[in-house]
Amino acid sequence: MWVFQLSLLFITGIIIGSFLNVIIYRLPNNVSIVTPRSYCPHCRKTIPFYRNIPLLSFLFQKGRCAECRVKISFRYPVVELLTGVLWMWAFSVYPLPKALLFVWMSGILTVIAFIDAKHFTVPLSLIVAMFAVLFIYNISEPTMVTDSIIGGIVGTTYLGLVLGLTWLLFKKQTMGFGDLQLVFICGIWLGAIQVLLMIFMSSIIALFYWGFISFRSATQRNQRLPFASFIAPVTIIIYAIGFEFTSLGL
Ligand SMILES: [Zn+2]
Repeated sequence: MWVFQLSLLFITGIIIGSFLNVIIYRLPNNVSIVTPRSYCPHCRKTIPFYRNIPLLSFLFQKGRCAECRVKISFRYPVVELLTGVLWMWAFSVYPLPKALLFVWMSGILTVIAFIDAKHFTVPLSLIVAMFAVLFIYNISEPTMVTDSIIGGIVGTTYLGLVLGLTWLLFKKQTMGFGDLQLVFICGIWLGAIQVLLMIFMSSIIALFYWGFISFRSATQRNQRLPFASFIAPVTIIIYAIGFEFTSLGL
């Protein structure tokens, strides 16, 4: 029975993941999320429903469009698989309201990570979508409110200071205000202690990434970093590990 429930969660997750892929592609390009039906970004042919099955279509078509044979981005199966795993995790580990909040937050954070990596922007609509649901959740769980408010303030203040300091030192803006808004939201979700850990970890990973691209080519050294692409996955991981802390009574 357990296997059946997990499979159902996984299938739901990959279907949602397939929808997240649509948002990742359409939101920054200002295309409606509802219409038109899914199409190949290369040949623009509509994809029939039987060729639009999450994960399976990609596997059967060996990662290529059935019409024009152009390679489909690896992002599609990766996001679907990831969302499937996150759904299985959420509903096996958390009570129902917390599980729903987890799939909502992790889903939107996945979208933000991929959009920022390509477009260097964090859509405000996604920030608002996360804030609205966190607001409702916190009203229903009053014990969490103080930690959430402090988390949001601590995270934003800390990153704001880093932003101000690097501005003074390097005379350039090292991150965008979208990053600040995102850290505010992640602080509300994570709480005060974990948001600091999250910023610390994201900065270290971003620094390694910057070192790596600078080593490969000097011209890329001055390129902006998609900081949200680091914040988003680290937030999901720290939130998930946080469960272990609380279960141990720490
Ligand atoms: Zn095509």
